[in-house]
Order: sequence, then C-alpha cells, then structure tokens
Amino acid sequence: MVVSGKPPYDDSNIFARILRGEIPCNKIFEDDFALAFHDIRPQAPVHALVIPKGSYVSFADFGANAPAELIFGFSRAVAHVAKQLGVEETGYRLIANMGWDSHQEVPHYHVHILGGRKLGVMLAPIEP
Ligand code: 5GP
Repeated sequence: MVVSGKPPYDDSNIFARILRGEIPCNKIFEDDFALAFHDIRPQAPVHALVIPKGSYVSFADFGANAPAELIFGFSRAVAHVAKQLGVEETGYRLIANMGWDSHQEVPHYHVHILGGRKLGVMLAPIEP
C-alpha cells in the first residue's frame, strides 16, 4: 500500500549532513541501514536518534518508499541501540515526529529513543 507519493527531500538538512560526515555527531552505532547518535539537546538521561541510511523525509515516506530490507534493518537497529544503551530492561519510549503538528524539526526520518528515568504520561491531557 502506498501512503503518499515521494515527497521532495532537502539534501542540506542537518541529518543528511551528519550522514555524509560533514558534521560530527556523538555516534552510538552504525551499520548498513542506520546511524544512531546522541541528541544534541537531550530531554531524558537517554536520548538517542536513529536515522536510516537513505533520503526519507518522514515515517510516511520511509514506510511507503524504502525497500523492505532497509525497513527491516532499520527496525533491528533501533532495537539494538536501545539494548546497547541499557534501557531494554527498564523500558523506553520511541517517538517519530512527522510534519507540522508534531513539530518535526529535521526533515530526515528519525526515531528518538528516550529512557533512563520514568517518562510519565505520553502527552499532557487535552483541556476540557
Ligand atoms: P524532531 O523534532 O525533528 O523530531 O527532532 C530533531 C532532534 O534533532 C531534536 O531533538 C534536536 O535536539 C536534534 N538535533 C538537531 N540538530 C542536531 C545536531 O546537529 N546534532 C544532534 N546530535 N542532534 C540534533
């Protein structure tokens, strides 16, 4: 099932530049499918970013347009990084922001891994 067409990808976004090695990152893990590094503005004791190797703007773009091998390898990488960071036992939260309402800042698909403390409710409750 195709969710949407292939959206334009901005090759100059910060994560594309990190992938090309133009900008440094505090690397956690890398394989053929993914690169993981620490978020520059951590919001939890563990706050990692995992990005796929490819030009995908968002979860929707990745799910619709990435080859199956990359989707599989990327998922494996996310789970591997969580384990490597020591939060598999205690638990963690995955976030993938997508588009305006989510406040996605960087237009290269990425998954946040957050953990290392009790994270509380997912979002503030909706005002009555
Ligand atoms: P988004 O809001 O797009 O889901 O998340 C983007 C994340 O990337 C933010 O948490 C932000 O702190 C992080 N970030 C932005 N620029 C850089 C950077 O140059 N290096 C690293 N390591 N993280 C960054």
